[in-house]
Amino acid sequence: MNKRIFFRVIVLCFALFIVIQCKNTVNAAETYGLTHQYMYNIRNRNSGKCLNVNYGTDANGTNVNQYTFDESYEQKFSLEYLGGDRTYKLYAFCSEEGYSRVLDVYRPLQNNANVDIWDDGDDDAQIWRIVHEGNGYYSIRLAYNTNLALTAYGTSNGGGSGTSSTSAGNVFVSNYTGAANQQWSFERTTALLTWDLVAPDKHLYYVSTTKYLNELNTAISKWNNVYSGLIVSSFSNISRITISDIYEENSNVVGTTSSTGTIKFNTYYLDNYDADSRLKTCIHELGHALKLHHIRDFASVMYPYSCSNIFLSPNDIWNLQNAYVRY
Ligand SMILES: [Zn+2]
Repeated sequence: MNKRIFFRVIVLCFALFIVIQCKNTVNAAETYGLTHQYMYNIRNRNSGKCLNVNYGTDANGTNVNQYTFDESYEQKFSLEYLGGDRTYKLYAFCSEEGYSRVLDVYRPLQNNANVDIWDDGDDDAQIWRIVHEGNGYYSIRLAYNTNLALTAYGTSNGGGSGTSSTSAGNVFVSNYTGAANQQWSFERTTALLTWDLVAPDKHLYYVSTTKYLNELNTAISKWNNVYSGLIVSSFSNISRITISDIYEENSNVVGTTSSTGTIKFNTYYLDNYDADSRLKTCIHELGHALKLHHIRDFASVMYPYSCSNIFLSPNDIWNLQNAYVRY
């Protein structure tokens, strides 16, 4: 949308008590050119505008429209491949960083039905078959009725209340005819934090008092394997982040990274973790300091829950490269 949203990324953490099973990446029978758990901007062929959750409002029924590409979180969707015949859910990043609401057809599921975001769970209204129509363009069909394809009306920016099939810039489903406004391109993207803790010379300088020094040093080496010397210990007065420990029983926060340049590890948890889990916490928080946001990728070190991934995934490396050019 037209305004970036800043309020949600003051402090990031990951929660201990939410247990989600890690899944293996699924590769079979995906749509040509698209990848499970990658994040995309989805651009309409006719208008050149992007699929967009109105103002990024995370609520059931928030309208989905098209809007001028603006790098905002409300234009980012993660693909979740479900197996079978090119079927996917599209998780809106603006809804709990891609872990809650999905692209959804407002019932009844018929020609000209509106499209919004809704809680994940109504499969007939939320599972999409994505078909490569050639030349890098795709139709996005409702698997329940593959005649119904995601469609954008006109070339204007959409709004929140214009929810009909002739509302300016609205997105809905309609019977597929192969028209340009029913075809979309997928452009890989990532979600970056709005803070800049990395210095303009492309080094993240730090000073540390943490007692988890072995894990911290290993974590630093993982990121520095991508860009040599990226994270550098520094005792000079140049801009740097401060890494320290706290003790906090009454929270589910294991580690936090803040916009003011602090990383704090909660000894209440980390003292009881095995070495790999401590390492994962260090890698994850450093990732935030490097501008990386959470991502809906169970293999990623930026997965926000309690898996213990200690290796950077291909997604992590691509996202870091994406961030690096913006330091
Ligand atoms: Zn986090």
